[in-house]
Amino acid sequence: MPAAQRIGIVGTGMGGLTLATMLARAGIAVDILEQASGPSALGSGLTLRGNAVRVLRELDVLDELLEHGYAFNDLALRAPGPDATVLVVMDDMRVGGEDLPATIGIYRPELNEIVRRRAEEAGVTFRYRAKVVAVEQDPESVQVTAEDGTTYTYDVVIGADGLNSTVREAIGITERPEPTGMGIWRTFVPRPEEVVRTDLYYGGPAFIAGYCPTGDSMMYAYLVEAAQERDLAEGPEIMAELAAGYGGPWVEIREHIKNDARVNYTHFTQHLIEGDWHRGRVVLIGDAAHSCPPTIAQGAAMAIEDAAVLARELIAAEAFDEESFRSFRDQRVPRARVVVENSVQLGQWMLDGKRDGDVPGLMHEVDSTVRVPV
Ligand SMILES: Cc1cc2nc3c(=O)[nH]c(=O)nc-3n(C[C@H](O)[C@H](O)[C@H](O)COP(=O)(O)OP(=O)(O)OC[C@H]3O[C@@H](n4cnc5c(N)ncnc54)[C@H](O)[C@@H]3O)c2cc1C
Repeated sequence: MPAAQRIGIVGTGMGGLTLATMLARAGIAVDILEQASGPSALGSGLTLRGNAVRVLRELDVLDELLEHGYAFNDLALRAPGPDATVLVVMDDMRVGGEDLPATIGIYRPELNEIVRRRAEEAGVTFRYRAKVVAVEQDPESVQVTAEDGTTYTYDVVIGADGLNSTVREAIGITERPEPTGMGIWRTFVPRPEEVVRTDLYYGGPAFIAGYCPTGDSMMYAYLVEAAQERDLAEGPEIMAELAAGYGGPWVEIREHIKNDARVNYTHFTQHLIEGDWHRGRVVLIGDAAHSCPPTIAQGAAMAIEDAAVLARELIAAEAFDEESFRSFRDQRVPRARVVVENSVQLGQWMLDGKRDGDVPGLMHEVDSTVRVPV
């Protein structure tokens, strides 16, 4: 029997939801505490690479991912400028195995909802409006206090609470995400028929322009620029102006942006906790432990993989022992490091104006690393 019988997870991102489902299916009592008032209905798209899909398949959600998302196996490079000439179409490595698509594009709230339902079916208790403000522990248990003053007690607590993790701060880990110097505009718009995979445009008014289909009717599009303070109210205008430097499907995308599209802006960050990812009975996963720019679309995949590896360790540990947290971390660091460093390097070459960087080489190193199952 697993030693941890009552587990609290902070955060209903992909890391927290995946972990909660796996632990609850093993008979562990799992609470998931989330600051939001309920499942999120707003968001943009997500590029889910095969290694993430391989883990999610263990939750029996593959059919739903394929039904709601958009699967594809290639990637194209196009030229910036009015003609949007297709320079090359490459077969993408099927990093989840030959029986899975290389990539599934999906609307983020839809993905969360698919996995949330599995967690609920497995018996996970969801506590929304539970913003965690304090985490304390003694040798036997962990006490988590929410903003409304309620305290919950667990054998083990997992901080799956993202970039600005409160749990990380509460256990005294001081490493934090640092800006990389890039910012990204994103919008969720109807899919032009021509968009059947991710096309990337390097150069032009933005460092990178790209898009990813997320279903039959919708897709998300993005433009990466040097990070700056941007006024979101001017978002559609700015994004449409940048988009004007690109042809092909961007002509139609731009029309949607101009006509009241929802547009958001985010600064890229990076970090990787070098020491232990735990203190006592509290451990971090996902963006709380490491973050990277989405230049290689592996952040959520890393959170999902973290969840699978930690679930395995917690289910196997018959006595509480910090060694299982160390083993989890040791399995994850080399993989997370390749993803973080290569994702950052790709962006840095662009910031430095280096045009001969081996971008396919960087991507290939990440793909070769993550194709090995966790
Ligand atoms: C612009 C952008 C595009 C991206 N695109 C991709 C992509 O295409 N593919 C990919 O694989 N990755 C992508 N990523 C990375 C991906 O979004 C993250 O790596 C992933 O969401 C991390 O998941 P997580 O579960 O660790 O944390 P999160 O998804 O951040 O979830 C954390 C949860 O914790 C909750 N929370 C926070 N604090 C508290 C608290 N104190 N109390 C209670 N709840 C709390 C939050 O409300 C949230 O629900 C992208 C990132 C960015 C910035």
